[in-house]
Amino acid sequence: MALDPITMLTLSIALAAAAALYLAVEWRHVREPSLLFWSAGFATITIGSTLALLRSSGILLIGIWFANGLLVTAHWLFLLGVVRFTEGRLSRGWYAIFAVWVAMLLLPEGPWWSKTMLSVNSSLVALMMFKASALLRPHGTSLSVGAGQLRYVLLVHGLFYLAKAITGAVPGTLIDLAAFRGEIIQISLVEGAMAIMLIALSMTGSERYRREKRIERLAARDPLTALYNRRALEVRAPRLLEDVSPSRPGALLLIDIDRFKSVNDLFGHMAGDRLLIVLSEMIRSVLPNGALAARLGGDEFVILLSDTSHERIVELGNTLRGRFHEAAAQSFATPEAVTLSIGASLFDQPPASLAALIEQGDAALYESKRGGRDSLRLVNRTQPGEAPLQTL
Ligand code: GH3
Ligand code: MG
Repeated sequence: MALDPITMLTLSIALAAAAALYLAVEWRHVREPSLLFWSAGFATITIGSTLALLRSSGILLIGIWFANGLLVTAHWLFLLGVVRFTEGRLSRGWYAIFAVWVAMLLLPEGPWWSKTMLSVNSSLVALMMFKASALLRPHGTSLSVGAGQLRYVLLVHGLFYLAKAITGAVPGTLIDLAAFRGEIIQISLVEGAMAIMLIALSMTGSERYRREKRIERLAARDPLTALYNRRALEVRAPRLLEDVSPSRPGALLLIDIDRFKSVNDLFGHMAGDRLLIVLSEMIRSVLPNGALAARLGGDEFVILLSDTSHERIVELGNTLRGRFHEAAAQSFATPEAVTLSIGASLFDQPPASLAALIEQGDAALYESKRGGRDSLRLVNRTQPGEAPLQTL
């Protein structure tokens, strides 16, 4: 098959139009501004390539600089899309470079023009692609994996344009841009078609990956307190529980607010919500490294600790109880104190399941409620023979 410029241009137009359309449809669903910039970039390539094709067929004799100018504009849009995607910023210098380049386009065409512009355009595209690639370097958690592919595709694309800029600057290189003659033009058109495909695919992939991560993050969290929900705890608990041994005991603390209904009844549901948030922030502030916390539902929370001890549970539980009692008393004057009941379980063997562990905590919590509330009950399973349930 002959890779003549007309065939390659036609192929580029089809690919760029498909990419523009696809990214625009994605944008309609997701409303991520980066997709719109990228779609506009591919639409610009479609227009530029169509103009170049019409010109080469003698139908439309618009200056070739216009078609090539659109290529630089398209890469500028790609860069702006990456800036939005990474939530980064471009310094003013970049806008100044773009403005100078637009001014250069207005210079009169001469024999030197084609080659100079090829080098200038190529250098600019290379520079923009290097910048976009640098913006995508791993620095966030979800960005690093999803955007990795796009980063390298843009980098290779930029390197190609750098090589093109150098070749264009070497005297005697055969480049006849206006007539689409010369090897560099042929190679460029092939690279262009490949780049359109790879860039569009990796852009879509990056955006999808980020969206999936965001949905995953949202699905794992309780919407009111942003703590993990029960499902997320079930996913994360096994790793922590597997590590439990006599030298690294684990613990579960089941926490329930005492007389929470009275806050709702006397001060309204929103006030109740605020108190749940206050408690979740307290839990976060006392949570040791490597521990897990979740809201199981209603006014019930859970903490899972690894490598802990009897003393640490008592200290953590009582700190929480003290702080919560104080905060609730300050904000809500209720006939009976709004406090915390905690049922805890200390163990030195991995439990049968998280559900079984929660059941033990629940039994201890029930004892605390039955005994008058505002207390910590602990089932110590690390010392056989000792009274399993203690009030602390
Ligand atoms: P106890 O001392 O026995 O724990 O009684 P309690 O009043 O704390 O009530 P209980 O724990 O049995 O029930 C929790 C209540 O919390 C029931 C429900 O009305 C309320 N609740 C559940 N989810 C929410 C929520 O998201 N926001 C608010 N404001 N209230 C909630
Ligand atoms: Mg309660």
